Amino acid sequence: MKNKIVAGNWKMNNTFSEAEDLLLAIAEGIDGMILETEIIICPPFLYLEMAADIAEESNFYVGAQNVSTEEKGAYTGEISASMLKTSGVDFCIIGHSERRTLFGETNTDLRKKIDVSLANDIIPVFCVGEHLADRETEKHFEVVKNQLEESLFHLDTNQFEQIIIAYEPVWAIGTGITATPQQAQEMHAFIRSVIEQKYGTEHAYNTYILYGGSCNAQNALDLFMCKDVDGGLIGGASLNVNDFIEIINAAETSTKNN
Ligand code: PEP
Repeated sequence: MKNKIVAGNWKMNNTFSEAEDLLLAIAEGIDGMILETEIIICPPFLYLEMAADIAEESNFYVGAQNVSTEEKGAYTGEISASMLKTSGVDFCIIGHSERRTLFGETNTDLRKKIDVSLANDIIPVFCVGEHLADRETEKHFEVVKNQLEESLFHLDTNQFEQIIIAYEPVWAIGTGITATPQQAQEMHAFIRSVIEQKYGTEHAYNTYILYGGSCNAQNALDLFMCKDVDGGLIGGASLNVNDFIEIINAAETSTKNN
């Protein structure tokens, strides 16, 4: 039995007190639950330390949403992987489509972010996914394969074991349009097959591949029941404690019924 991972990407939302309230509400909501599911909360940088303090008394991990390509130095406004690690962060989202599209991050930049994260003992949650035009022209498999190859496939097997992948079709992020379970399963199985060719069957099986893109309390169970979907990266629905806890419950149910 493989357990699930549910990660919440808060993006640029919540004031300090709203963030504190939400973190405490999540901690209270999962208090006393015996969970197979690993929970990762990814708030904005400013709230990471607070999240890490609350996480110490709770049952979730803390992730950042981004990290600098550089280790340290004259990079005004940037946050390094060692800063994250020493603030209690264990995970980092890398390659979110908003970073790729709005901030021009390339597969080469992301490869550096992967390396610097691993060097600082931070587990990358590496996002891949195609734009609608790629899917409409049947290039979606090729696009995702390139993203994997160009940012991850320089890693040796021991390093690759640390990686979590999130398949997030860009057309589904924040749009309310979710990939169907069939579409998600098809791409997740493809990603696993690409990993298998490079790193072998065992590593392919062990790699966590999360689905992200308008996953919510209503559709999470159907998505999580897919054979190759190992949990979710949740944006909008992670900002509402009740929805987020329902998604965690869906992950638990799917683990027990798979
Ligand atoms: C995301 O930003 O990673 C995401 C999946 O967003 P949403 O769930 O809001 O589509």
